[in-house]
Amino acid sequence: MKKIGLFGGTFDPIHNGHLHIARAFADELALDMVVFLPAGNPYHKTEHTRTDAQHRLAMTELAVGHNPRFAVSDCDIIRKGATYTFDTVQIFRQQFPSAQLWWLLGSDSLLKLHTWKKWQTLVSHTHIAVAAREGDNIAQAPRELHGWIGSALQNGSLHLLQTPMYNLSSTEIRHKIRAGQSVTGLIDPQVENYIARNHLYR
Ligand code: ATP
Repeated sequence: MKKIGLFGGTFDPIHNGHLHIARAFADELALDMVVFLPAGNPYHKTEHTRTDAQHRLAMTELAVGHNPRFAVSDCDIIRKGATYTFDTVQIFRQQFPSAQLWWLLGSDSLLKLHTWKKWQTLVSHTHIAVAAREGDNIAQAPRELHGWIGSALQNGSLHLLQTPMYNLSSTEIRHKIRAGQSVTGLIDPQVENYIARNHLYR
């Protein structure tokens, strides 16, 4: 059976923490491929607008291009209106009817999973892998998630990645660039170049 990993994020920009957990995801679960899914532009204008989706997509393509098991999909960018993980997974389910689908989350996202559209249906159809992030403790998950976490850990549909944490965020990268500090070693060199060429995060 084919095993496909799905990794949604804002990727504003994609950094080595993302690549680190995606490799761990592919290795620990013996996935055939990991598909990175950059989020679209916000449906409603928010105060903190993110970098345009075409830039985030281009940077994600540059960063994952070296790894034959990694791919990028624009499916969350080209869809109109609000995009929900539930619908994204449905699209992949239709494309790969007999594959085992895994969704990758950082632990900060896991702790908010109960606010996602149709989360209970989502977790009943999709396996979930979680990468630990500094400061998060799954034992402190909101009560709504307790029952599912307990049973999913037991039946193997929830996997906690064993790989050590890699403490880095896109926020940190954006702050460093704005402050004129180096991000060498924290992001892919081609992404670093792309950011400089396009004057992003200044
Ligand atoms: P920002 O700082 O802008 O909030 P971010 O670094 O959290 O961004 P996202 O694109 O929002 O990056 O993250 C996509 C997914 O990857 C989320 O599920 C997030 O929890 C996870 N993630 C990001 N960085 C890490 C990391 N260093 N370790 C574990 N998970 C991570």
